[in-house]
Amino acid sequence: MYNSIMVKRGAERSVIRELFEYGNRRKAEIGAENVFDFSIGNPSAPVPEELERFLQANRGGHGYTSAPGLFPVRKAVSDYIRTSFGVPMSEELVYMTCGASSSIVITLTAALNAGEEVIVPAPFFPEYAVFIEEAGGVLVSVPTDENFHLDLGAIGRAITEKTRAILLNSPNNPTGAIYTEAEMYALGRLLDGYSGRPQGPILLLADEPYRELVYGAAPVYPMKVYDHTVVLYSFSKSLSLAGERIGYIAISPQCYGAQELFAAVCGAGRRHGYVCAPALFQRAVASCLGKCADLGMYRANRDLLFGALSDMGYACIVPEGAFYLFVKSPEPDAVAFAERAKKYELLLVPSDSFGVKGYVRISYCVERAVIERSLPAFRALIGEYGG
Ligand code: PLP
Repeated sequence: MYNSIMVKRGAERSVIRELFEYGNRRKAEIGAENVFDFSIGNPSAPVPEELERFLQANRGGHGYTSAPGLFPVRKAVSDYIRTSFGVPMSEELVYMTCGASSSIVITLTAALNAGEEVIVPAPFFPEYAVFIEEAGGVLVSVPTDENFHLDLGAIGRAITEKTRAILLNSPNNPTGAIYTEAEMYALGRLLDGYSGRPQGPILLLADEPYRELVYGAAPVYPMKVYDHTVVLYSFSKSLSLAGERIGYIAISPQCYGAQELFAAVCGAGRRHGYVCAPALFQRAVASCLGKCADLGMYRANRDLLFGALSDMGYACIVPEGAFYLFVKSPEPDAVAFAERAKKYELLLVPSDSFGVKGYVRISYCVERAVIERSLPAFRALIGEYGG
């Protein structure tokens, strides 16, 4: 009777959300302090002081804005990109959105013709599959190397006449990998080889909600390595604002058909009924561009968790950025392992919906005390495997 595809989308499991809801139920049953909820990337660091000050001092201005956003805000974002990353940018090519998810949905809707392919290095954020398919595209999953970095050979082999875009996420959810400058430039050169195609170049769509969340060198700005780039940004993680829904799309002025793509972005925003991004938060984020919530807290969590779990015998890769630890499941079936972890009130996300098997993701953007309290549970869990 109703749209069967949407009924299916609504009914099918988002493993992360399901675990998050399970955690909320469990907390109500046995007390929040007894549940070790590592399910969702919901930042717990306080928002930066600059943002706090802005929100206290600013009231009003809650009306509609123009669809791409308030002009001074778009200009502030454009100036920030130009001066911080040394790339050309124009406020005319910045579109304010309701976070990374809407940046991705809008851009895919704008860019894809029916049946076109989007290459995505795996593992990847599970919602990509929904976003790409609902935009009429086909997700082409490409493996990464043993350290979860780009496998350029595999990407090259995956390119076809129908490839419209490659969707990258660095720092990466769920692995914490940051693609190096060298591999990003190499990717740029690979994609450059297809720039003269009659159907237009391959777009590089850079999903960047974790750009500032890095524990070493900052990732290269993707517009530097390749002209036909669109940055899909969100303030959800950097400013601990995930529930407020604010981000932007920035199209490189050097991108093929940049004006036409921007027009299509406006059309896609309209089609999805976004109207405009939240007015107060447009102004709020413009007041603290480049600022970040307490990274020290996430670094301390990373070091504590990585050190403790490695000592216990878990195999994990040091996250270079973001706030996720990707841990090898001690049994081949990560779903079974995550289910077993629930016995100890440990909520870990199995990697299957990220497009790879055999791992679990631990989201460590929680209070340190949660990690400290959880360690005996992790020890008991690995004990079941003789660890
Ligand atoms: N992209 C990636 C890689 C993410 O990890 C997330 C959220 O966890 C999103 C997009 C969605 O972010 P937002 O809350 O800004 O929509």
